[in-house]
Amino acid sequence: MTGIGTADLKKMFDAIAAAIEADRDRLCQLDGVIGDADHGIAMALGFNAVRDALAPLDLSAIEPTALLNMAAKSFLNAVGASSGPLYATAFMRAAAAVKGKATLTDAEFVALFQAMAQGIKDRGKAELGEKTMVDAWQPATEAAAATHAAGKPLAESLQAALAAAERGAEATKDMVAAKGRSSRLGERSLGHIDPGAASAVTVIGAMVKSLG
Ligand code: ADP
Ligand code: MG
Repeated sequence: MTGIGTADLKKMFDAIAAAIEADRDRLCQLDGVIGDADHGIAMALGFNAVRDALAPLDLSAIEPTALLNMAAKSFLNAVGASSGPLYATAFMRAAAAVKGKATLTDAEFVALFQAMAQGIKDRGKAELGEKTMVDAWQPATEAAAATHAAGKPLAESLQAALAAAERGAEATKDMVAAKGRSSRLGERSLGHIDPGAASAVTVIGAMVKSLG
């Protein structure tokens, strides 16, 4: 294993863009119930912009940090919805977490993954249980870190992350939204999955497939 390089990261973003595009209508429908029905559109715009920004790069000439910062910038510029700055911050933090490295070890990728979730939390100021994407991202990164700390390979750590994200997204059904647009619904948000938590599962699932 020579580590995860820029070509692997680009492949990962391409995989996320394809998965989100395939999931776009379902994400819009979920957002239609407790939000404004644009979440699939926002996520597809963002990840398609990332894919297009990375496409012309000479991957042998740039480091992971530059690629991730480019992803952050293109996502932010493409997305007007609240998911824009949340994912842009995730990628900026990921970039900072691997600064100066040409390729990433499993441990460094797990650190990058944790930095993404922390970025989303810091940017949106949502805590667990407030019915947001944090309810998928935080347990996912905790599961990845715990599995990695137990000496397992990256594929297994990411599988554990995906399973935790799925459980976390499902659990948002029983939560009352306390952050973002759907918080205006109060108790009426009960019984419905949060669209941002649902798309986090799709993003993490594509990461698992691409890197696992
Ligand atoms: P908008 O609400 O502006 O239309 P999107 O539809 O793209 O944006 O995204 C909605 C998702 O964003 C929600 O389902 C939720 O998961 C997430 N979200 C909203 N506000 C926050 C926040 N403060 N912290 C974390 N996630 C948030
Ligand atoms: Mg929306």
